[in-house]
Amino acid sequence: MNTLPLPWQRQLAEAFSNVTDLCRYLELDPAQLPLLPDYKEFPLRVPRGFVDCMEKANPCDPLLRQVLPVRDELVLYPGYSHDPVGDLNAMTATGVIHKYHGRVLLICTGGCAVNCRYCFRKHFPYGDQQLSRQKLQQALAYISARPEITEVILSGGDPLLLNDDKLGLLLDAVSAIPHVRRIRIHSRIPVVLPARITAELLQIFSDTPQKVVLVLHANHANELSQEVAKACADLTRHTVTLLNQSVLLKGVNDDSQSLLQLHEKLFDCGILPYYLHCLDRASGLGHFEVPEAQALSLMQSLREQLPGYLVPKLVKEQAGAAHKIRLG
Ligand SMILES: *Cc1c(COP(=O)(O)O)cnc(C)c1O
Ligand code: SF4
Repeated sequence: MNTLPLPWQRQLAEAFSNVTDLCRYLELDPAQLPLLPDYKEFPLRVPRGFVDCMEKANPCDPLLRQVLPVRDELVLYPGYSHDPVGDLNAMTATGVIHKYHGRVLLICTGGCAVNCRYCFRKHFPYGDQQLSRQKLQQALAYISARPEITEVILSGGDPLLLNDDKLGLLLDAVSAIPHVRRIRIHSRIPVVLPARITAELLQIFSDTPQKVVLVLHANHANELSQEVAKACADLTRHTVTLLNQSVLLKGVNDDSQSLLQLHEKLFDCGILPYYLHCLDRASGLGHFEVPEAQALSLMQSLREQLPGYLVPKLVKEQAGAAHKIRLG
């Protein structure tokens, strides 16, 4: 048997994109699941490596719940909307979200390697915010003209979905701005598609003069496979600082045991916890919400059981606020 891992582009192309195939692979009967009949608008997308971290024949698997389109998404909850965190009001140029002092966020692509059902940018108008060559020049000019911007955050979508050429050019252009001291990348790819962390990509990070901070996004310990641990070790060796943010999700990680195991295992992989986010109230996500009182008591149990440096900050995003709101 050939055991060489496929290159990441092949793995991406071979990701599961329909529920029938996914159910067959996981030995689940689709007729027994409360499936969303039509999920074309926000398709199913999940790389095989991530599926291999799921337990077969378990309809409640915490990783499966993050990617399976279910009928609950059609339920309307009060207070849920298409732009829950006020992204659109904070767009100061095409592809540029400037909400917080000193930090500016670039929407690098609308695509992701995985489609998370709880995504708060599910309804984001990516088509209108594409950074064409010309729009990118305008975004860079926006940053260059504001010496108070010391950190550029690459986001999306998932910035590591860009190929090496595009990402290299983008990092070169951003790092050429003298007042930019840090470049931060928010990505779920090291977790869901660790093959993306190639020698070429590591070289691009090494060649970037600024500090590179990679904020990963893992929600459950089962996501952190050996391949993920290896990718993290490679990144750390190339002086990338690894942090993690999770979203607190009902049925995924809303119990103290899951959160404990996640944070222990993150540190085993050389990743420090950063944020534990309360769910952003985007339409179709209500079934994932964990009540605030429960969130606070989960945090208390983490504080009682973990060293301080492994306790994430519980935060929520509030449209119009000057920073994320800390709870507890
Ligand atoms: C979360 C976020 C940031 C970064 O905030 P930190 O608290 O520094 O992590 C920056 N810009 C936008 C638009 C954000 O949503
Ligand atoms: S990887 Fe991030 S941006 Fe992409 S679907 Fe998941 S939560 Fe949303």
